[in-house]
Amino acid sequence: MDSLTIGAFAKASRLSPKALRLYDELGLLTPARVDPLTGYRHYAPDQLERARLVSWLRRLGMPLARIREVCALSAPAAAREIRAYWAQAEAAHGARQNLAAFLVDHLSRKDLAVNDANHALELRYAALSDAGLVRSANQDTAYAGDRLLAVADGFGGEGAPAGAAAVDALKALDTGADGASGGLLDVLQDALDRADETVRGYADSGTTLTALLWSGERLALVHIGDSRAYLLRDGGLFRITHDHTMVQSMVDEGRLTEAEAVSHPQRSLLVRALGSGTRTAGRLPDLRLHDPRPGDRYLLCTDGLSTVVPDEELRRVLASGAEPGEAVRTLVELANAAGGPDNVSCVVADVQERSVAA
Ligand code: MG
Repeated sequence: MDSLTIGAFAKASRLSPKALRLYDELGLLTPARVDPLTGYRHYAPDQLERARLVSWLRRLGMPLARIREVCALSAPAAAREIRAYWAQAEAAHGARQNLAAFLVDHLSRKDLAVNDANHALELRYAALSDAGLVRSANQDTAYAGDRLLAVADGFGGEGAPAGAAAVDALKALDTGADGASGGLLDVLQDALDRADETVRGYADSGTTLTALLWSGERLALVHIGDSRAYLLRDGGLFRITHDHTMVQSMVDEGRLTEAEAVSHPQRSLLVRALGSGTRTAGRLPDLRLHDPRPGDRYLLCTDGLSTVVPDEELRRVLASGAEPGEAVRTLVELANAAGGPDNVSCVVADVQERSVAA
């Protein structure tokens, strides 16, 4: 079959002549022949397959530079590359979707001030962090106060100060220092910017961060990484955070079962975290608002607990009626009884009616 003019090739490949000229200039799709006199481009019929692939990848939103890489690969390698691209695109989309949901939720209700003292509920809490039985140092941080509950799991050479710095950046919200009296969104944004900036100061280190900020009537959940938050309500235990791990992404895609994920050798590989020393796609935390009820019990923990103590065991301890201080001690003991392979931290907080009328 004869070569095709750019017009005929454009029609057959569903790419515009303008796009074809651009792809030629970028080395993505070089014409089989360029007429030396007229400069007209001519394409071979067997170039249609590549042109169509380029067209489909553009529809996926893949950048041209990456399309060039994919086109240079064998079919199986190209398939792997497209899968990896799409996993990244979905992670970025998920983070934006989460932010959009938070904003809708936030704007649908009134903007509560963090320092609002006229509320009917309060928190009763305890925090505990332990090195575990194998690690020589503790890179975890756990904190609980009247307005802030937080755990962080640092990693890298300066993981411990990185995790502590992330929690410290939020602590101003607890004490009401640093003018933390604005709207919840402003206050959170400032605190997260501060946390991100401070943690990035630690070279090749990073941290997870899972925190609940109490506004008096509602709880704002901030979450990035693989530490977790659970809610015990009416006897049932609900995980309210999504792990930002490679393994969780594979579970979400249906490529791995929950059971397989538990024992996966790379289960702690993070796709999102705070800090500079990460292979992560982004540092944007998940944000969500929660309406607490009297009787609710929240658990925040690092993976040193959730990896070795099954959810049913967590539920049993939390539902036992033990005081927060006793509950965190029991949970740490359970992690250590299971070998204590990692640092373990937990915060337990009960939502209760305010004991003295404001
Ligand atoms: Mg850990």
